[in-house]
Amino acid sequence: MTNTESLPQPKRGRKGGTDTGPRNVELDRQNPDLLVPPETDHGTVPNLKFSMSWAATRLEEGGWTREVTQRELPVATELAGVDMKLNPGAYRELHWHKQSEWAYVLEGSCRIGAVDQEGRNFLDDVQQGDLWFFPRGVPHHIQALDDGVEFLLVFDDGMFSENSTFMISDYFAHTPRSVIAKNFGWSAEQLDALPDKEKYIFPGQVPPPLDSDHVLSPTGDVPRTFKHSLHAQEPEHFDGGTAKVADSRNFAASDTISAALVEMEPGALRELHWHPTDDEWQYWIRGKGRMGVFASSGLNRTFDYQAGDVGYVPFAYGHYIENTGDEPLVFLEMFRNPRFEDISLSQWMANTPPQVAADTLNLPRSTVEAIPKGKPRIMR
Ligand code: MN
Ligand code: MN
Repeated sequence: MTNTESLPQPKRGRKGGTDTGPRNVELDRQNPDLLVPPETDHGTVPNLKFSMSWAATRLEEGGWTREVTQRELPVATELAGVDMKLNPGAYRELHWHKQSEWAYVLEGSCRIGAVDQEGRNFLDDVQQGDLWFFPRGVPHHIQALDDGVEFLLVFDDGMFSENSTFMISDYFAHTPRSVIAKNFGWSAEQLDALPDKEKYIFPGQVPPPLDSDHVLSPTGDVPRTFKHSLHAQEPEHFDGGTAKVADSRNFAASDTISAALVEMEPGALRELHWHPTDDEWQYWIRGKGRMGVFASSGLNRTFDYQAGDVGYVPFAYGHYIENTGDEPLVFLEMFRNPRFEDISLSQWMANTPPQVAADTLNLPRSTVEAIPKGKPRIMR
């Protein structure tokens, strides 16, 4: 038998007991706050975690992709996310979809292109830490540069799926050849090699330098760039970490999705807060942390996260995030809203007549008066 002493056990003080039955110890170790919840946890809160590693991976010649949507994480109705890798030169083919697409480059670099409803075009290169945003319905493509690319896509609809986008090859394959010939003025021979089904992700040659790849459109470039160099954006500094907010105020094209890239030192806390607008969709990029979520009516639950996890916080639920690892924690907070907004518990208390909070929480008035009036965001 296994030595039960060395294993994490569902036991806190006099409560609980040992688990000697069937168990997945690796998962128990990754989720210590599910196995032994803090004493303050209570009641039933929906599941707020789904790892990309639990999602089915679609393998293609040229790369791979996997997604966490409302189907995987039922509470996640507002946003869905896709993790995609393209090998050097490989394409995510010309396509469009009903949802707007926000993206963060996790590794490597790629070229992205789009053409809007007036024929105005966009072509640019993005690297690790950069963002892009394609409005719904606007057709676009992605091609990996020399080292390949991995990126996170976020869509403003929990029911989005990568498997149901509108692809140019699929459209050609399911349109009568006579119609295609008439549409483009092509001869029958010019249609011979058309693909008979979607290509989706497929190999290609690394494209030439950006300048020589750019097509001059008679209607010009798109009026608002679809790229935002988040990697070059100066972060806001806090005691214990940094944040970079990207929303319609500094990335005008991104008019349905906002985000904050948060980095926290070991032990640091993302303050107790909530969001007055929307649900929060998270992607955990590096490190380890835990999040406690308050759902009103005495309900509270704590989840542990690590790189590759998707987290979710329903609208208005109070929450904090704590770096529980020994390396920096990096994650994205995302919202289906043109602006990033959060409400700080401490800022609220500090800007309310102090006797009110003193009477409510049985605190000395002087303690309440000493709460800083700003928004700490992150603290040690
Ligand atoms: Mn797309
Ligand atoms: Mn939050």
